[in-house]
Amino acid sequence: MRLLLVEDDDHVAAALSAVLARHGFKVVHARSGEEALRALLPADQEPFGVVLLDLGLPDQDGYEVCGKIRKRSATPVIMVTARADVRSRIHGLNLGADDYVVKPYDTGELLARIHAVARRRTAGEDTGATPAAALLLGPVRIELPTRRVSVGDQEIQLTRKEFDLLALLAQRPGVVFRREQIISEVWRTSWEGTGRTLEVHVASLRSKLRLPALIETVRGVGYRLVTPSR
Ligand code: CA
Repeated sequence: MRLLLVEDDDHVAAALSAVLARHGFKVVHARSGEEALRALLPADQEPFGVVLLDLGLPDQDGYEVCGKIRKRSATPVIMVTARADVRSRIHGLNLGADDYVVKPYDTGELLARIHAVARRRTAGEDTGATPAAALLLGPVRIELPTRRVSVGDQEIQLTRKEFDLLALLAQRPGVVFRREQIISEVWRTSWEGTGRTLEVHVASLRSKLRLPALIETVRGVGYRLVTPSR
């Protein structure tokens, strides 16, 4: 699989390229947003299976580059960044990134994610769907760029905050998010007085999606999303 590595740090790029080459990837290295966008152009080449996009680039904001890549290509994009906060992650996914990896990352994890996005993309092509940046959790489908949510074939109308909350929890199914963390990421505020609001939104999501067990309360800590088996 051809892989476009967008990374301005030559040391990082060399080390990563070596690992990726060992795992059978044909790596093309771009040092800037401009180079990356140029590399995507030639139509006579085998298309890239995935783009690994460092967000800290010298010439353009990585998010901007992601948006531009998404406009001209359906190649899966994995953002690589030192920005660990969930809001950055959601922002990236909203721009059409397929996944988001935080530095320092484990190489094994990175490889697993590359294979996962490539697999998802191929599966989507088979059914004619375009699952870019969609999260699938059993019957629940969350489309990040369009902010659409469906359960089975029924589309569910969510408020802005309900969507943000669901998208946040769905980034890491099974992982417990602390109440304070959710409130700061979704409501961009500190925790006082918002606790009740959070509970109301969780209750509303459970009822609108008709999946009361989807969001599990972890007493005294927060919430986690449990992937339905159906
Ligand atoms: Ca960088």
